[in-house]
Amino acid sequence: MNKKWVNWSGNQSATPKRIISPSSEDEIISLVGIGVANRWRIRPVGSSHSFSPICVTDGLLVPLDSFNQILHVDKELLQVTVGAGITLSKLNVELANLGLALPNLGDIDSQTLAGAISTGTHGTGSRYSSISAAVIGLRIVTGDGSIISTSKFQDPEILESARVSLGAFGVVTSITLQCVEAFFLEGVELTTALDAVLERFDDEDTKSDFVEFYWYPHTEIAELKINNRTLNPVSKKGGIVRFLNDEILRNTAFGCLNRYWKYFPKYAPGTFNRVLNVGERNIRIAPSYEIFCSKRRVKFVEMEYAVPREYLLEAFNKVRKITETLNRPLTFPIEVRSLGSDDIPLSPAFGRETGFIAVHVYKDADSSIFFSQVENLMREYNGRPHWGKVHNLSSEDLPNLYPEWDKFLRIRKRLDPDGHFSNNYLEKVLGY
Ligand SMILES: Cc1cc2nc3c(=O)[nH]c(=O)nc-3n(C[C@H](O)[C@H](O)[C@H](O)COP(=O)(O)OP(=O)(O)OC[C@H]3O[C@@H](n4cnc5c(N)ncnc54)[C@H](O)[C@@H]3O)c2cc1C
Repeated sequence: MNKKWVNWSGNQSATPKRIISPSSEDEIISLVGIGVANRWRIRPVGSSHSFSPICVTDGLLVPLDSFNQILHVDKELLQVTVGAGITLSKLNVELANLGLALPNLGDIDSQTLAGAISTGTHGTGSRYSSISAAVIGLRIVTGDGSIISTSKFQDPEILESARVSLGAFGVVTSITLQCVEAFFLEGVELTTALDAVLERFDDEDTKSDFVEFYWYPHTEIAELKINNRTLNPVSKKGGIVRFLNDEILRNTAFGCLNRYWKYFPKYAPGTFNRVLNVGERNIRIAPSYEIFCSKRRVKFVEMEYAVPREYLLEAFNKVRKITETLNRPLTFPIEVRSLGSDDIPLSPAFGRETGFIAVHVYKDADSSIFFSQVENLMREYNGRPHWGKVHNLSSEDLPNLYPEWDKFLRIRKRLDPDGHFSNNYLEKVLGY
């Protein structure tokens, strides 16, 4: 019997013909041959942390867990080449051992590097970019089974698009990254009134390195997170408090509460009001990746849209208005982040300073009404969806949102003209 595949959240599943983990590029080339000969489409997969059906296939599912090593280090230029299937958690530690780091990261580190860049995974910081922007070279097994190496000196137009490729160009086997010297962050987490956060956000976002906030729906409370690079020493104390906060409050207790709120959601806002301590301030100094990333054990489903930065707070306030109309209160915070403009054709931050609004619901809760209202609102702002998160846009809507859409399609036509790496999701968003 064929093995079933399910994503992290449990909202996507598939029964591929085979799930095969190759251990060399030659094996991947053979797999492409097998796929083409049998008319089985091929889907590379990472840690299965995408909420969209981007990995779903009834053909061959190809995880690259064996491609997980550092392959080359250039200490002078601060560049590394790594296997595409390395997880961010492993990569972060190995980089730290070399005195290096990625310039910016998202909320978690469970994704593979290839999976993270393929969907434009990002953190926050108006002077910073997504993980994809650190990519300066790639090797890809393409639709005819050949291998392409791309860098700024070799087929640079492929590199441009391949940094956010949705897995549509082929199987990426290795990735070269421009790193920075390892650095520490001072992370400040402030639980405070939402109005105060909204008043401060733009100013903090301009003067600090990495700023974001979470709003607890149906309350007036938000959590502002400000992370700044620092040369101060790592905090030695506070390990137990941090464990209680991260593991017990944010994971174990939050998970129990969500199981209860599934049946009694009306109690969620009252609980937030009682347990969140307005005025509480936590400060911690640690290596960058430890401050950027935390564990998320409570399963949820997420939609995230990128809007022009100047409309971020306006759009957020309209999302707030939508929450007031819902019959069922939300039990997950809404996350607001920013990012600098980049030049990656299918990056949600392409060509514009960007703000992100992410909405979440508990894994089994019905998201349809809320998500479709948020999605309609995002159309007003030319919102671009996160490729790895739930959205309903198609090849009818998307080309208008991305000035270099055709450039991306031209590269895809070159690398996979017959759509061997396609699936239903890619057919919907890219047109074949
Ligand atoms: C708890 C949680 C927290 C998250 N936090 C953030 C966040 O802070 N910021 C953010 O932007 N996103 C976030 N995400 C979304 C997540 O980062 C993306 O969906 C990411 O793509 C998942 O990486 P993955 O390794 O699981 O890739 P998968 O979901 O397995 O795959 C994603 C895409 O990558 C392609 N792919 C994978 N490997 C290869 C390869 N070797 N070659 C070619 N293509 C490949 C797949 O075909 C697919 O198109 C979060 C998701 C979860 C579940």
